[in-house]
Amino acid sequence: MNLSCEQVPYSRLAEEFGTPLYVYSQSALTEAFKGYTDAFAALEPLVCYAVKANGNLSIIKHFASLGSGFDIVSGGELARVLAAGGDAGKTIFSGVGKSEAEIEFALNAGVKCFNMESIPEIDRIQAVAARLGKTAPVSLRVNPDVDAKTHPYISTGLKANKFGIAYADAFQAYQYAAQQPNLNIVGIDCHIGSQLTDLSPLIEACERILLLVDRLAEAGIMPEHLDLGGGVGIVYDNENVPDLNAYARAVQKLIGTRRLKLVLEPGRSLVGNAGTLLTRVEFVKQGEEKNFVITDAAMNDLMRPALYGAFHRIEAVEPTGTEPFTADIVGPVCETGDFIGKDRRIACEAGSLLAVHSAGAYAASMASNYNARNRAAEVMVSGTQSRLIRQRETWEQQMANETACL
Ligand code: PLP
Repeated sequence: MNLSCEQVPYSRLAEEFGTPLYVYSQSALTEAFKGYTDAFAALEPLVCYAVKANGNLSIIKHFASLGSGFDIVSGGELARVLAAGGDAGKTIFSGVGKSEAEIEFALNAGVKCFNMESIPEIDRIQAVAARLGKTAPVSLRVNPDVDAKTHPYISTGLKANKFGIAYADAFQAYQYAAQQPNLNIVGIDCHIGSQLTDLSPLIEACERILLLVDRLAEAGIMPEHLDLGGGVGIVYDNENVPDLNAYARAVQKLIGTRRLKLVLEPGRSLVGNAGTLLTRVEFVKQGEEKNFVITDAAMNDLMRPALYGAFHRIEAVEPTGTEPFTADIVGPVCETGDFIGKDRRIACEAGSLLAVHSAGAYAASMASNYNARNRAAEVMVSGTQSRLIRQRETWEQQMANETACL
């Protein structure tokens, strides 16, 4: 069987656009988005796509057309949202280190809310808003100290993590924020981590945040929205992933009669399984201890395996007629950590096209020019149609901002 994205064979896409190539299914993006809006329909959520997962303008535009808001963590991501026609008024600005320039840009654009992560950040946003004669809509990102039971690098809700305001300090921090003349408290927020395969930490975090909401209400501080942060995990291999309907039912029950609007910031689960990385085998090399399949995609294209030891399913796009063997699938980058898969059974030969699955999230958006490699092209497929949504970078573009001076 030949693999395809919607009705377009991967082999045709690779021939037309070259490799390495990111391919996205537009209908998979739509379905994933509807998964959230349908499951949480009773709570009328504002789903704010986390742009960091994949900031391609066409992907942002597609989610905007579905009514999505956006979760951003930099001025650059806000510029992308605006360039793609996203609504600043539905955009949440997260992140621990917003610069003054970024805050000013976001205030002028009219973002929905700043999720503030520290007292110095409260002071900074107050100062920038005062200077501009504006009022900043804000919420505090509270760190509920819940173990998300995910990879330590993507766990964010523990005391030891740099994110959010400690649960024990959050009430006072809210009181402090409430005293600032140019801040308007509109929400409360938490985000405990990514690739969560168990619902219980999400529910525990929600419970803890709601306790705080009640305490704040007694003190006359009334957040209008509850932002529960990122979405659920996805299947890369054979993980059990949380059921969105069960998550929605649990959140609805916990919110009860409180008058809180719900905001969600899913990233991975909206794009992860809508994307595939296509890569061509350059060589099959027999090492002394191992076999290596050397592909034209490398860690600069897909960093997750090198960064977190992440697993991506890899298979040949077309039958090759060769016997399967066990090999590490590696790129041409000069690092031992440059691998896409380890110890995989695969039937392929030089020239074979491989599909690296679940590569829609934290993949193209993490790509770099390491080893002076051009970043890959990206294609969106819808039915029988394919559109180039990012051209393959050129060496000239890589060097455009540099000067060779003595
Ligand atoms: N919101 C914030 C503040 C994040 O840091 C992240 C990513 O870690 C997300 C949302 C998106 O998380 P996910 O991709 O797991 O849905």
